[in-house]
Amino acid sequence: MARASLTIDLAAIRANWRALDAMTECETGAVVKADAYGLGADQVGPTLLKVGVRNFFVALAEEGAALRAAIGPGPRIFVFSGLMPEDVGLVRAAALVPLLNTPAQLLEAKRVSAKFDAPLTVGFQLDSGMNRLGFEADELADALAPSDALSGLEVTLVMSHLACADEPDHMMNAAQASAFSAIAAHPVLNSTPKSLAATGGVLLGPAYHFDMTRPGIGLYGGLPFADARPVVTLEAPILQIRDVAAGEIVGYGAAYEAASPRRIATLPVGYADGLARRLSAGFAGRLDGMTLPSAGRVSMDLVTLDVTGCATAREGAMVTLLGADQTIDDLADSAGAIGYEVLTSLGSRYARRYRDA
Ligand SMILES: *Cc1c(COP(=O)(O)O)cnc(C)c1O
Repeated sequence: MARASLTIDLAAIRANWRALDAMTECETGAVVKADAYGLGADQVGPTLLKVGVRNFFVALAEEGAALRAAIGPGPRIFVFSGLMPEDVGLVRAAALVPLLNTPAQLLEAKRVSAKFDAPLTVGFQLDSGMNRLGFEADELADALAPSDALSGLEVTLVMSHLACADEPDHMMNAAQASAFSAIAAHPVLNSTPKSLAATGGVLLGPAYHFDMTRPGIGLYGGLPFADARPVVTLEAPILQIRDVAAGEIVGYGAAYEAASPRRIATLPVGYADGLARRLSAGFAGRLDGMTLPSAGRVSMDLVTLDVTGCATAREGAMVTLLGADQTIDDLADSAGAIGYEVLTSLGSRYARRYRDA
């Protein structure tokens, strides 16, 4: 029996990066945190390198070290979480660029550069209103006041993050852009490159682009980049088919009861593979152009679909669960989730295939 398979289209990732790059006049980086949103940073990193990416972003130093092994020396790898004392070894060994978030992280960076007697390349993350990570304006002013504030450090990027970039009309957007400009105008950082925009910020327009953008989800085919090429295809084989009489139930909790005679197919994917249990109404498979609605609850390893009237539904036939017809955002809508969450939940049990055409 074939396993469920997840196909990741590397050419589509490159095309999405190029499309986002073409929307700005500035440098375009790439966010590959959480193992490239679950798609495999060891494959996604090198494919983006091929199309010209020279600035990568990860959340954790461990992710940065794994990425460095995949892409080799040269490109910058920024770490959003900054510099934690236990990261120092990795930061040096993998030449990572911590994005400093707090006065304590700045002190740690200076301590590291003194200890190793070599300049440490860093960036600054500023809080422009999201209140999640980064220096507040007054903290930054205090930290930069001493004349030796940045001794031993080479500052290559000043960044912040938008809270509402997927809502173009949200008043937070303009407020954060001007707050960012004001904080980043500090004389000590004035000539350092600036970055504010993730995928949503790229789409907001030039006022948000500054010197570098940092798209993530758009590369992987998700909203808010509506014109993205889909990147993932998820297919699962039919394991078993049975006829169910009117009045019989399917699955846990007897949550589905057949109103008329139905044919029910069982597929070997479940919530342990990222098909959230909340998926019920609205979730469907596709086979030969037919829509196969889910029937009953998603269980850990299995889902059941109504294949009544689908002539090609037989044991072994491959049903498409994610692709151009049902995107990560469609599935997210049905589960009360977002595309990011669908991607990063896909799990490790699929046969993974990388297509590059
Ligand atoms: C995740 C993240 C990004 C990428 O965001 P997308 O919406 O996926 O494009 C950029 N910057 C920061 C700070 C992030 O945490």
